[in-house]
Amino acid sequence: MIAWVADHRKHHQFADAPGDPHSPWKFGTSPWALTRGMLHAHLGWLFHEHAPFVRYAPDLLRDPVAMRASRAYWKLVAVSVLLPPLLGGILIWSWAGALSAFFWGSLVRTALVHHVEWSINSICHIAGERPFHSRDRSGNVSWLALLTFGDAWHNLHHADPTLARHGALRGQIDIAARIIRWCELAGWVWDVHWPDTTRLERRKAHHSQREPHLPTTP
Ligand SMILES: [Zn+2]
Ligand SMILES: [Zn+2]
Repeated sequence: MIAWVADHRKHHQFADAPGDPHSPWKFGTSPWALTRGMLHAHLGWLFHEHAPFVRYAPDLLRDPVAMRASRAYWKLVAVSVLLPPLLGGILIWSWAGALSAFFWGSLVRTALVHHVEWSINSICHIAGERPFHSRDRSGNVSWLALLTFGDAWHNLHHADPTLARHGALRGQIDIAARIIRWCELAGWVWDVHWPDTTRLERRKAHHSQREPHLPTTP
């Protein structure tokens, strides 16, 4: 978990510029460079060096709750992978039930969730509308918005990263923002930043806005 936070903060710091851990524009702007870049942003970057915790997440290293959650990572993975076959085996009371639940509930589900999440890095930094001003190529990809619980309204997330709602324009459904709101109402989270008209207006993109700097094709 701390690794994800560190990488993600570095992504915001360099967003689509040299230093971004997963920019699809890393190799240039030609079709081949972009294909390579998309594969890198989608999956390949995970196998490269990660952002150092001490530099990018020193606050979490001092946070006992975050550390406990982070240390429990492999235990949580084990529960997530083993629970479906266990339930399938008990409910159907057969090995076939356990195997089928393992296939759909563990393998297919994990693959699907990962590809949806990775699409934010690959697709949402290439495609989509950019109604707000940001230094990068983050866009709003509406057909991914429901699947990603609102994360695919990625342009506003980069334009104003501290906002809890990414889909703040009319008709943009943001399931994660709704869940955060419920947590806020329950008193579990506080100091949540919500968008308001003035704040959004200030970040609206203007037509005179220059295209963000991108690497040239090698
Ligand atoms: Zn972010
Ligand atoms: Zn991004």
